Amino acid sequence: MVSAVPSSIVLVSEGQRREILPVVRGDVELVPLDQIVAGLDVIVLSDPKGGAVSLRYQKHEVALYNKKSLASIDGDLRLLSAAVVYEEGRWLVPVDSLPRLLGPLLGRRVEWRATSRVLVIGNIGIPRINVSTFVSGDVARVVLEASENVPFRVAQEEGRVTVAIARDLVDANAAPQRLSGGIVESVQFVGGKDNLFVVTLGRRFQQVKAYEQQSPPRLVLEFQGPPQAAVRPSAPVPTPPPPPAPAAGARTIVIDPGHGGEEVGAQGPGGTLEKEVTLAIARKLRTQLTNLGLQVFLTRDKDEDIPLDERTAIANNYKADLFLSIHANASRSQGAFGSEVYFLSYQASDEESRRMAVSEGASFAPSPPVSAGSDLALILWDMAQAEHLEESSALASRIQEELAVVTGSEGRGVKQAPFRVLVGAAMPAVLVEVAFISNPDEEKLLASEPYQNKVAGALTRGISRYEESRRASLGAFEPRVGQ
Ligand SMILES: [Zn+2]
Repeated sequence: MVSAVPSSIVLVSEGQRREILPVVRGDVELVPLDQIVAGLDVIVLSDPKGGAVSLRYQKHEVALYNKKSLASIDGDLRLLSAAVVYEEGRWLVPVDSLPRLLGPLLGRRVEWRATSRVLVIGNIGIPRINVSTFVSGDVARVVLEASENVPFRVAQEEGRVTVAIARDLVDANAAPQRLSGGIVESVQFVGGKDNLFVVTLGRRFQQVKAYEQQSPPRLVLEFQGPPQAAVRPSAPVPTPPPPPAPAAGARTIVIDPGHGGEEVGAQGPGGTLEKEVTLAIARKLRTQLTNLGLQVFLTRDKDEDIPLDERTAIANNYKADLFLSIHANASRSQGAFGSEVYFLSYQASDEESRRMAVSEGASFAPSPPVSAGSDLALILWDMAQAEHLEESSALASRIQEELAVVTGSEGRGVKQAPFRVLVGAAMPAVLVEVAFISNPDEEKLLASEPYQNKVAGALTRGISRYEESRRASLGAFEPRVGQ
Protein backbone atom coordinates (compact mmCIF):
# COMPACT_ATOMS: atom_id res chain seq x y z
CA MET A 1 0.00 0.00 0.00
CA VAL A 2 1.26 3.43 -0.91
CA SER A 3 1.53 5.60 2.14
CA ALA A 4 -0.76 8.58 1.87
CA VAL A 5 1.15 10.49 4.54
CA PRO A 6 2.30 13.77 2.98
CA SER A 7 6.04 14.19 3.19
CA SER A 8 5.85 17.96 2.93
CA ILE A 9 5.19 20.21 5.87
CA VAL A 10 2.44 22.80 5.81
CA LEU A 11 3.15 26.32 6.95
CA VAL A 12 0.09 28.32 7.98
CA SER A 13 0.08 31.97 8.95
CA GLU A 14 -2.40 34.81 8.52
CA GLY A 15 -3.29 34.81 4.84
CA GLN A 16 -0.79 32.09 3.93
CA ARG A 17 -0.86 28.36 3.52
CA ARG A 18 2.22 26.88 1.90
CA GLU A 19 3.70 23.44 1.54
CA ILE A 20 7.43 23.06 2.02
CA LEU A 21 9.43 19.97 1.21
CA PRO A 22 11.89 19.12 3.97
CA VAL A 23 15.36 17.67 3.49
CA VAL A 24 16.39 14.67 5.55
CA ARG A 25 19.96 14.34 6.82
CA GLY A 26 20.44 11.26 8.96
CA ASP A 27 17.40 11.26 11.21
CA VAL A 28 17.06 15.02 11.20
CA GLU A 29 14.45 16.82 9.16
CA LEU A 30 15.57 20.23 7.93
CA VAL A 31 13.77 22.90 5.95
CA PRO A 32 15.20 25.62 3.69
CA LEU A 33 15.18 28.84 5.65
CA ASP A 34 14.36 31.05 2.63
CA GLN A 35 11.17 29.09 2.02
CA ILE A 36 10.13 29.37 5.64
CA VAL A 37 10.55 33.14 5.90
CA ALA A 38 9.18 33.94 2.41
CA GLY A 39 6.40 36.50 2.73
CA LEU A 40 7.04 37.14 6.41
CA ASP A 41 9.01 40.40 5.85
CA VAL A 42 12.12 38.92 7.43
CA ILE A 43 15.47 40.30 6.25
CA VAL A 44 17.98 37.52 5.65
CA LEU A 45 21.69 38.37 5.57
CA SER A 46 23.96 35.44 4.83
CA ASP A 47 27.68 35.91 5.11
CA PRO A 48 29.23 35.24 1.70
CA LYS A 49 31.29 32.30 2.96
CA GLY A 50 28.23 30.66 4.47
CA GLY A 51 29.58 30.72 8.02
CA ALA A 52 26.61 32.52 9.52
CA VAL A 53 23.24 33.91 8.62
CA SER A 54 21.29 36.62 10.34
CA LEU A 55 17.52 37.07 10.32
CA ARG A 56 16.02 40.41 11.18
CA TYR A 57 12.46 41.38 11.85
CA GLN A 58 11.63 44.74 13.37
CA LYS A 59 13.83 45.01 16.48
CA HIS A 60 14.67 41.32 16.66
CA GLU A 61 17.64 39.45 15.32
CA VAL A 62 18.43 35.77 15.14
CA ALA A 63 21.84 34.48 14.07
CA LEU A 64 22.54 30.92 13.00
CA TYR A 65 25.88 29.28 12.38
CA ASN A 66 26.81 26.59 9.91
CA LYS A 67 27.10 23.14 11.52
CA LYS A 68 26.14 24.48 14.93
CA SER A 69 23.11 23.63 17.00
CA LEU A 70 23.13 26.98 18.69
CA ALA A 71 21.28 30.15 17.80
CA SER A 72 21.75 33.66 19.02
CA ILE A 73 18.35 35.21 19.64
CA ASP A 74 18.61 38.91 20.40
CA GLY A 75 22.02 38.09 21.84
CA ASP A 76 20.75 35.18 23.96
CA LEU A 77 22.11 31.76 23.11
CA ARG A 78 19.58 28.97 22.61
CA LEU A 79 20.14 25.33 21.85
CA LEU A 80 18.55 23.81 18.77
CA SER A 81 17.56 20.18 18.39
CA ALA A 82 20.24 19.66 15.73
CA ALA A 83 22.84 21.60 13.79
CA VAL A 84 21.94 24.16 11.14
CA VAL A 85 23.50 23.30 7.77
CA TYR A 86 24.62 25.56 4.93
CA GLU A 87 24.46 23.54 1.74
CA GLU A 88 24.58 24.52 -1.92
CA GLY A 89 23.81 28.13 -1.21
CA ARG A 90 20.90 27.54 1.13
CA TRP A 91 20.45 27.41 4.87
CA LEU A 92 18.72 24.34 6.28
CA VAL A 93 17.17 24.52 9.74
CA PRO A 94 15.83 21.65 11.91
CA VAL A 95 12.04 21.67 11.61
CA ASP A 96 11.36 21.11 15.29
CA SER A 97 13.55 24.06 16.27
CA LEU A 98 11.59 26.55 14.18
CA PRO A 99 9.29 27.66 17.04
CA ARG A 100 12.34 28.46 19.17
CA LEU A 101 13.79 30.65 16.42
CA LEU A 102 10.76 32.21 14.78
CA GLY A 103 8.70 32.84 17.92
CA PRO A 104 11.10 35.42 19.42
CA LEU A 105 12.05 36.78 15.98
CA LEU A 106 8.50 37.49 14.87
CA GLY A 107 7.14 38.17 18.35
CA ARG A 108 4.31 35.78 17.52
CA ARG A 109 3.21 32.38 18.68
CA VAL A 110 4.87 29.73 16.52
CA GLU A 111 3.95 26.11 16.96
CA TRP A 112 5.20 22.96 15.27
CA ARG A 113 2.56 20.23 15.31
CA ALA A 114 4.67 17.19 14.63
CA THR A 115 1.91 14.62 14.19
CA SER A 116 0.01 16.67 11.62
CA ARG A 117 3.25 18.22 10.25
CA VAL A 118 1.92 21.74 10.44
CA LEU A 119 3.89 24.84 11.38
CA VAL A 120 1.48 27.45 12.72
CA ILE A 121 2.61 31.08 12.83
CA GLY A 122 0.43 33.50 14.78
CA ASN A 123 -2.93 32.93 16.42
CA ILE A 124 -4.67 30.88 13.78
CA GLY A 125 -7.74 28.88 14.62
CA ILE A 126 -7.02 25.39 13.37
CA PRO A 127 -9.51 22.82 14.55
CA ARG A 128 -8.03 19.66 15.99
CA ILE A 129 -9.72 16.44 15.00
CA ASN A 130 -9.32 13.45 17.23
CA VAL A 131 -10.25 10.03 15.82
CA SER A 132 -11.36 7.20 18.05
CA THR A 133 -12.65 3.77 17.07
CA PHE A 134 -14.66 1.01 18.76
CA VAL A 135 -15.56 -2.46 17.56
CA SER A 136 -18.27 -4.40 19.31
CA GLY A 137 -19.91 -7.49 17.81
CA ASP A 138 -21.46 -6.54 14.47
CA VAL A 139 -20.82 -2.78 14.75
CA ALA A 140 -17.69 -0.76 14.18
CA ARG A 141 -17.87 2.85 15.25
CA VAL A 142 -15.56 5.66 14.14
CA VAL A 143 -15.82 9.00 15.94
CA LEU A 144 -14.27 12.22 14.68
CA GLU A 145 -14.24 14.67 17.56
CA ALA A 146 -13.51 18.30 16.72
CA SER A 147 -12.18 21.05 18.99
CA GLU A 148 -14.75 23.43 17.45
CA ASN A 149 -17.74 23.28 15.09
CA VAL A 150 -16.67 22.20 11.61
CA PRO A 151 -18.67 21.12 8.55
CA PHE A 152 -18.30 17.35 8.06
CA ARG A 153 -19.11 16.05 4.57
CA VAL A 154 -19.53 12.27 4.34
CA ALA A 155 -19.37 10.34 1.06
CA GLN A 156 -19.56 6.62 0.37
CA GLU A 157 -17.39 5.33 -2.45
CA GLU A 158 -16.25 1.95 -3.73
CA GLY A 159 -14.69 0.16 -0.77
CA ARG A 160 -14.43 3.25 1.40
CA VAL A 161 -16.20 6.07 3.19
CA THR A 162 -14.63 9.52 3.17
CA VAL A 163 -15.13 12.53 5.39
CA ALA A 164 -14.11 15.95 4.10
CA ILE A 165 -13.89 19.05 6.27
CA ALA A 166 -14.20 22.37 4.47
CA ARG A 167 -11.69 24.42 6.40
CA ASP A 168 -8.31 25.91 5.43
CA LEU A 169 -6.60 23.37 7.58
CA VAL A 170 -7.34 20.86 10.27
CA ASP A 171 -4.95 19.26 12.66
CA ALA A 172 -5.18 15.49 12.91
CA ASN A 173 -2.91 12.56 13.52
CA ALA A 174 -1.97 11.08 10.15
CA ALA A 175 -1.07 7.66 11.51
CA PRO A 176 -3.62 5.06 10.37
CA GLN A 177 -5.74 3.24 12.94
CA ARG A 178 -6.48 -0.41 12.20
CA LEU A 179 -9.65 -2.08 13.39
CA SER A 180 -10.34 -5.73 14.07
CA GLY A 181 -13.52 -7.64 13.13
CA GLY A 182 -13.47 -7.20 9.35
CA ILE A 183 -16.19 -4.53 9.12
CA VAL A 184 -13.76 -1.61 8.88
CA GLU A 185 -10.13 -2.18 8.03
CA SER A 186 -8.64 1.20 8.91
CA VAL A 187 -9.16 4.93 9.38
CA GLN A 188 -6.62 7.43 8.19
CA PHE A 189 -6.27 11.17 7.82
CA VAL A 190 -4.82 11.80 4.37
CA GLY A 191 -5.18 15.59 4.48
CA GLY A 192 -4.93 17.51 1.23
CA LYS A 193 -6.97 20.62 0.56
CA ASP A 194 -10.22 18.80 1.45
CA ASN A 195 -8.80 17.67 4.81
CA LEU A 196 -9.86 14.16 3.96
CA PHE A 197 -10.33 11.22 6.30
CA VAL A 198 -10.59 7.82 4.64
CA VAL A 199 -12.30 4.81 6.21
CA THR A 200 -11.38 1.62 4.35
CA LEU A 201 -14.18 -0.91 4.49
CA GLY A 202 -13.70 -4.60 5.30
CA ARG A 203 -15.28 -7.66 3.74
CA ARG A 204 -17.98 -7.89 6.46
CA PHE A 205 -19.22 -4.34 5.87
CA GLN A 206 -22.93 -3.99 5.06
CA GLN A 207 -24.03 -0.41 5.65
CA VAL A 208 -23.05 2.86 7.30
CA LYS A 209 -25.00 5.42 9.35
CA ALA A 210 -23.60 8.87 10.03
CA TYR A 211 -24.81 11.41 12.54
CA GLU A 212 -23.45 14.44 14.35
CA GLN A 213 -23.49 15.24 18.04
CA GLN A 214 -22.63 18.32 20.07
CA SER A 215 -20.50 19.17 23.11
CA PRO A 216 -18.01 18.30 22.02
CA PRO A 217 -18.85 18.59 18.32
CA ARG A 218 -18.35 15.21 16.68
CA LEU A 219 -19.26 13.02 13.77
CA VAL A 220 -20.20 9.42 14.54
CA LEU A 221 -19.96 6.81 11.82
CA GLU A 222 -21.60 3.50 12.59
CA PHE A 223 -20.60 0.64 10.31
CA GLN A 224 -22.87 -2.35 10.41
CA GLY A 225 -21.72 -5.90 9.73
CA PRO A 226 -23.90 -9.04 9.36
CA PRO A 227 -25.63 -10.07 12.59
CA GLN A 228 -23.66 -12.77 14.34
CA ALA A 229 -26.04 -13.97 17.02
CA ALA A 230 -24.11 -17.17 17.61
CA VAL A 231 -20.76 -15.53 17.62
CA ARG A 232 -19.31 -14.18 20.81
CA PRO A 233 -18.83 -10.42 20.44
CA SER A 234 -15.20 -9.47 20.15
CA ALA A 235 -13.81 -7.25 22.80
CA PRO A 236 -13.77 -3.55 22.09
CA VAL A 237 -10.49 -2.46 20.61
CA PRO A 238 -8.95 0.28 22.62
CA THR A 239 -7.85 3.40 20.77
CA PRO A 240 -4.11 3.24 20.32
CA PRO A 241 -2.32 5.78 22.48
CA PRO A 242 -1.05 8.87 20.69
CA PRO A 243 2.57 8.57 19.59
CA PRO A 244 4.98 10.07 22.06
CA ALA A 245 6.11 13.64 21.42
CA PRO A 246 9.25 13.59 19.30
CA ALA A 247 12.13 13.17 21.70
CA ALA A 248 14.29 16.25 21.40
CA GLY A 249 17.06 14.27 23.05
CA ALA A 250 16.51 16.42 26.09
CA ARG A 251 19.47 16.25 28.42
CA THR A 252 19.03 16.24 32.16
CA ILE A 253 20.87 18.55 34.51
CA VAL A 254 20.78 18.35 38.28
CA ILE A 255 21.56 21.57 40.13
CA ASP A 256 22.60 21.39 43.73
CA PRO A 257 22.03 24.56 45.77
CA GLY A 258 24.79 24.27 48.40
CA HIS A 259 23.95 23.90 52.11
CA GLY A 260 20.43 24.40 53.52
CA GLY A 261 18.48 24.09 56.76
CA GLU A 262 20.66 24.13 59.88
CA GLU A 263 23.68 24.00 57.62
CA VAL A 264 23.71 27.66 56.59
CA GLY A 265 27.12 27.64 54.86
CA ALA A 266 29.20 30.80 54.91
CA GLN A 267 27.80 34.05 56.22
CA GLY A 268 28.56 37.48 54.81
CA PRO A 269 29.54 40.47 56.99
CA GLY A 270 26.08 41.93 56.29
CA GLY A 271 24.35 38.70 57.40
CA THR A 272 23.59 37.18 53.98
CA LEU A 273 23.60 33.39 54.18
CA GLU A 274 25.24 31.19 51.56
CA LYS A 275 22.31 28.73 51.63
CA GLU A 276 19.88 31.48 50.55
CA VAL A 277 22.06 32.76 47.73
CA THR A 278 22.73 29.30 46.33
CA LEU A 279 19.03 28.43 46.21
CA ALA A 280 18.11 31.73 44.56
CA ILE A 281 20.73 31.27 41.84
CA ALA A 282 19.82 27.60 41.36
CA ARG A 283 16.17 28.49 40.76
CA LYS A 284 17.07 31.14 38.21
CA LEU A 285 19.45 28.75 36.50
CA ARG A 286 16.69 26.15 36.35
CA THR A 287 14.41 28.61 34.56
CA GLN A 288 17.06 29.54 32.02
CA LEU A 289 18.12 25.97 31.28
CA THR A 290 14.51 24.83 31.02
CA ASN A 291 13.98 27.56 28.42
CA LEU A 292 16.73 25.93 26.40
CA GLY A 293 14.76 22.70 26.38
CA LEU A 294 16.85 20.94 29.01
CA GLN A 295 15.34 18.89 31.78
CA VAL A 296 16.36 20.32 35.14
CA PHE A 297 16.03 19.09 38.72
CA LEU A 298 17.20 20.68 41.97
CA THR A 299 18.55 18.59 44.84
CA ARG A 300 16.58 20.88 47.12
CA ASP A 301 13.92 23.45 46.32
CA LYS A 302 13.48 24.72 49.85
CA ASP A 303 15.47 25.48 52.96
CA GLU A 304 16.42 21.98 54.08
CA ASP A 305 19.57 20.15 54.97
CA ILE A 306 20.43 17.32 52.62
CA PRO A 307 23.51 15.16 53.24
CA LEU A 308 26.26 15.56 50.63
CA ASP A 309 26.15 11.95 49.48
CA GLU A 310 22.40 12.17 49.00
CA ARG A 311 22.78 15.14 46.69
CA THR A 312 24.91 13.13 44.30
CA ALA A 313 22.61 10.16 44.69
CA ILE A 314 19.74 12.34 43.48
CA ALA A 315 21.72 13.17 40.33
CA ASN A 316 22.53 9.51 39.79
CA ASN A 317 18.90 8.52 40.29
CA TYR A 318 17.75 11.01 37.69
CA LYS A 319 20.48 9.64 35.41
CA ALA A 320 21.57 13.23 35.00
CA ASP A 321 23.93 14.16 32.20
CA LEU A 322 25.50 16.96 34.24
CA PHE A 323 25.72 17.86 37.92
CA LEU A 324 26.37 21.36 39.15
CA SER A 325 26.80 22.26 42.81
CA ILE A 326 26.44 25.97 43.58
CA HIS A 327 28.23 27.70 46.46
CA ALA A 328 29.49 31.08 47.59
CA ASN A 329 33.06 31.49 48.70
CA ALA A 330 34.44 32.73 52.00
CA SER A 331 37.90 33.89 52.90
CA ARG A 332 39.56 35.33 55.95
CA SER A 333 40.77 38.08 53.70
CA GLN A 334 37.83 40.45 53.12
CA GLY A 335 39.43 41.60 49.85
CA ALA A 336 39.22 38.18 48.18
CA PHE A 337 36.84 38.32 45.22
CA GLY A 338 35.74 36.53 42.07
CA SER A 339 34.51 33.13 41.06
CA GLU A 340 36.14 29.71 41.09
CA VAL A 341 35.03 26.52 39.45
CA TYR A 342 36.16 23.17 40.79
CA PHE A 343 36.20 19.63 39.60
CA LEU A 344 37.23 16.67 41.64
CA SER A 345 40.67 15.47 42.52
CA TYR A 346 42.09 13.56 45.40
CA GLN A 347 44.65 16.22 46.05
CA ALA A 348 43.78 19.89 46.10
CA SER A 349 45.50 21.95 43.41
CA ASP A 350 46.72 24.36 46.09
CA GLU A 351 46.52 24.95 49.81
CA GLU A 352 43.63 27.39 49.52
CA SER A 353 41.61 24.90 47.49
CA ARG A 354 42.25 22.26 50.10
CA ARG A 355 40.94 24.56 52.82
CA MET A 356 37.93 25.30 50.66
CA ALA A 357 37.20 21.63 50.18
CA VAL A 358 37.39 21.09 53.91
CA SER A 359 34.97 23.90 54.63
CA GLU A 360 32.53 22.63 51.97
CA GLY A 361 32.88 19.06 53.21
CA ALA A 362 36.02 17.38 51.98
CA SER A 363 35.80 13.78 50.93
CA PHE A 364 38.81 12.85 53.03
CA ALA A 365 40.49 13.79 56.24
CA PRO A 366 41.83 17.34 56.18
CA SER A 367 45.39 16.07 55.86
CA PRO A 368 45.33 13.02 53.66
CA PRO A 369 48.44 10.87 53.75
CA VAL A 370 49.59 11.34 50.19
CA SER A 371 52.37 9.40 48.57
CA ALA A 372 52.61 9.17 44.83
CA GLY A 373 52.02 5.76 43.33
CA SER A 374 50.41 4.41 46.46
CA ASP A 375 47.04 2.71 46.47
CA LEU A 376 45.45 6.11 47.00
CA ALA A 377 45.39 6.39 43.22
CA LEU A 378 43.21 3.30 43.22
CA ILE A 379 40.78 4.99 45.53
CA LEU A 380 40.42 7.81 43.04
CA TRP A 381 39.73 5.37 40.23
CA ASP A 382 37.12 3.64 42.33
CA MET A 383 35.07 6.80 42.48
CA ALA A 384 32.09 7.13 40.19
CA GLN A 385 33.43 10.52 39.19
CA ALA A 386 36.79 9.17 38.03
CA GLU A 387 35.79 8.30 34.50
CA HIS A 388 34.18 11.70 34.00
CA LEU A 389 37.09 13.86 35.13
CA GLU A 390 38.10 14.94 31.66
CA GLU A 391 34.56 16.03 30.81
CA SER A 392 34.18 17.67 34.21
CA SER A 393 37.34 19.64 33.54
CA ALA A 394 35.99 20.78 30.16
CA LEU A 395 32.69 21.78 31.72
CA ALA A 396 34.49 23.65 34.52
CA SER A 397 36.55 25.61 31.97
CA ARG A 398 33.53 26.68 29.96
CA ILE A 399 31.67 27.79 33.06
CA GLN A 400 34.65 29.63 34.47
CA GLU A 401 35.21 31.51 31.20
CA GLU A 402 31.63 32.72 31.24
CA LEU A 403 31.59 33.51 34.96
CA ALA A 404 34.82 35.47 34.65
CA VAL A 405 33.06 37.90 32.34
CA VAL A 406 30.34 38.50 34.92
CA THR A 407 32.41 38.50 38.09
CA GLY A 408 35.64 39.93 36.71
CA SER A 409 37.76 37.15 38.10
CA GLU A 410 39.95 35.94 35.27
CA GLY A 411 42.76 35.13 37.65
CA ARG A 412 41.05 32.56 39.85
CA GLY A 413 40.20 30.01 37.22
CA VAL A 414 39.51 26.31 37.37
CA LYS A 415 40.77 24.36 40.37
CA GLN A 416 40.69 20.88 41.71
CA ALA A 417 39.88 19.71 45.22
CA PRO A 418 38.43 16.66 46.96
CA PHE A 419 34.85 17.86 47.35
CA ARG A 420 32.79 15.12 48.84
CA VAL A 421 29.65 16.17 46.96
CA LEU A 422 31.38 15.42 43.65
CA VAL A 423 32.89 12.03 44.49
CA GLY A 424 29.89 9.82 43.78
CA ALA A 425 28.61 11.69 40.73
CA ALA A 426 28.39 9.32 37.78
CA MET A 427 28.38 12.15 35.25
CA PRO A 428 30.45 15.26 34.52
CA ALA A 429 30.22 17.30 37.73
CA VAL A 430 31.52 20.64 38.90
CA LEU A 431 31.28 22.82 41.97
CA VAL A 432 30.98 26.56 41.46
CA GLU A 433 32.01 29.15 44.03
CA VAL A 434 30.14 32.03 42.47
CA ALA A 435 31.74 34.88 44.41
CA PHE A 436 33.00 35.73 47.89
CA ILE A 437 30.17 36.25 50.32
CA SER A 438 32.89 37.30 52.79
CA ASN A 439 33.65 40.32 50.61
CA PRO A 440 31.17 43.11 51.49
CA ASP A 441 30.83 44.23 47.87
CA GLU A 442 30.30 40.74 46.52
CA GLU A 443 27.94 39.94 49.36
CA LYS A 444 25.67 42.80 48.24
CA LEU A 445 25.88 41.56 44.67
CA LEU A 446 25.14 37.97 45.61
CA ALA A 447 22.00 39.06 47.43
CA SER A 448 20.73 41.12 44.49
CA GLU A 449 18.39 39.63 41.95
CA PRO A 450 19.94 41.23 38.82
CA TYR A 451 23.32 39.81 39.78
CA GLN A 452 21.83 36.39 40.51
CA ASN A 453 20.28 36.49 37.05
CA LYS A 454 23.61 37.45 35.51
CA VAL A 455 25.34 34.56 37.25
CA ALA A 456 22.61 32.16 36.14
CA GLY A 457 23.07 33.50 32.60
CA ALA A 458 26.82 32.88 32.72
CA LEU A 459 26.29 29.34 34.03
CA THR A 460 23.74 28.73 31.28
CA ARG A 461 26.14 29.95 28.60
CA GLY A 462 28.94 27.81 30.03
CA ILE A 463 26.72 24.74 30.02
CA SER A 464 25.45 25.52 26.50
CA ARG A 465 28.96 25.84 25.18
CA TYR A 466 29.98 22.61 26.83
CA GLU A 467 26.93 20.88 25.35
CA GLU A 468 27.69 22.33 21.96
CA SER A 469 31.29 21.16 21.87
CA ARG A 470 30.23 17.77 23.18
CA ARG A 471 27.75 17.43 20.33
CA ALA A 472 30.22 18.80 17.84
CA SER A 473 32.76 16.17 18.82
CA LEU A 474 30.08 13.50 18.51
CA GLY A 475 29.36 14.91 15.06
CA ALA A 476 33.07 14.49 14.24
CA PHE A 477 33.89 18.02 13.28
CA GLU A 478 36.22 20.36 15.04
CA PRO A 479 34.36 22.33 17.68
CA ARG A 480 34.77 26.05 17.41
CA VAL A 481 33.20 27.77 20.29
CA GLY A 482 31.19 30.85 19.42
CA GLN A 483 30.42 33.87 21.52
ZN1 LIG B 1 29.36 26.28 50.27
